[in-house]
Amino acid sequence: MNMVDIGAAQAAYRDELVAAGLLIPTGVDGLYGRSGVFEEVVERFDALVTRWGGADGAEAMRFPPALNRRYFEESDYLKSFPHLAGTIHSFGGDEKAHRTLLRRLEEGQDWTEDQVATDVVMTPAACYPVYPTIARRGALPDGGTVIDVFSYCFRHEPSIDPARMQMFRMREYIRIGTPEQVVEFRETWLERGREMMASLEVPLEIDVANDPFFGRVGAMLSSSQREQKLKFELLIPVTSTQKPTACLSFNYHQDHFGHIWDIRTADGGVAHTACVGFGMERVALALFRHHGFDPAGWPAAVRKVLWG
Ligand code: ATP
Ligand code: ZN
Ligand code: MG
Repeated sequence: MNMVDIGAAQAAYRDELVAAGLLIPTGVDGLYGRSGVFEEVVERFDALVTRWGGADGAEAMRFPPALNRRYFEESDYLKSFPHLAGTIHSFGGDEKAHRTLLRRLEEGQDWTEDQVATDVVMTPAACYPVYPTIARRGALPDGGTVIDVFSYCFRHEPSIDPARMQMFRMREYIRIGTPEQVVEFRETWLERGREMMASLEVPLEIDVANDPFFGRVGAMLSSSQREQKLKFELLIPVTSTQKPTACLSFNYHQDHFGHIWDIRTADGGVAHTACVGFGMERVALALFRHHGFDPAGWPAAVRKVLWG
């Protein structure tokens, strides 16, 4: 398939999902409501992730889908992914500015001039609020720590691909500790992720990947990330077998976040971090793609894994 065919296949599959009622369109590419059936699959998969990750004794934290703007600024996200960031602005003008806003709105013109940045930005990945939070606690305990998060995330990447949403949910486990602890965590999850997804009887492969760093410097960062094998993805065909979709990601940040927020291990070293991320909508879409739109008709073994 060439790019045009891939685009056509994505649009066709999105139409099918909408016709089946699983995705509820909003008029914006990448922004969907989901049906009760879709949500039940998300919930069952979330519970499955907990079953596989539970033994690690992760500490659960749940944050709203927004981040302290200061943490966001400190995180370097704007250096790497300015094109994906979503910042939250609010009206900051006086009454005169308000009258101007309403007039422009009426005339169908740009009304956003007096919108000013608030103290919050949209969460780009579920793990972002965790690092500054852990840093505030002081040095890590001996074994380091494992944190469990689940959040809506925002990325400005409107697409006709139903698997590339602007707002989607990410469950993550985050390991913070010594390089050895963190590397071992990622190895463990690469294996677990493969087994867990194989139990759902979907075709999958794991491959080295890179993040879409912005611009020319970004291209260098992307290839260095690949060379060092810092990111792996578990890919499942959703709209195309030629270009399968990343449903799980396994990321090793080395001391990037540890350095920014001065997270220290028990022995005083700069902490390393890694995370495993589960794309909840993408996994649900992969299941609908391979087993059909009605979970009642899914293979018995798959139903057993999800519903017990
Ligand atoms: P891709 O290469 O497809 O853009 P990614 O590398 O940006 O994916 P991560 O940043 O590692 O993905 O995010 C963790 C997980 O969140 C991914 O494995 C995927 O399942 C999910 N995810 C990422 N971007 C989207 C999106 N736009 N819509 C839905 N799910 C997403
Ligand atoms: Zn993460
Ligand atoms: Mg991406």
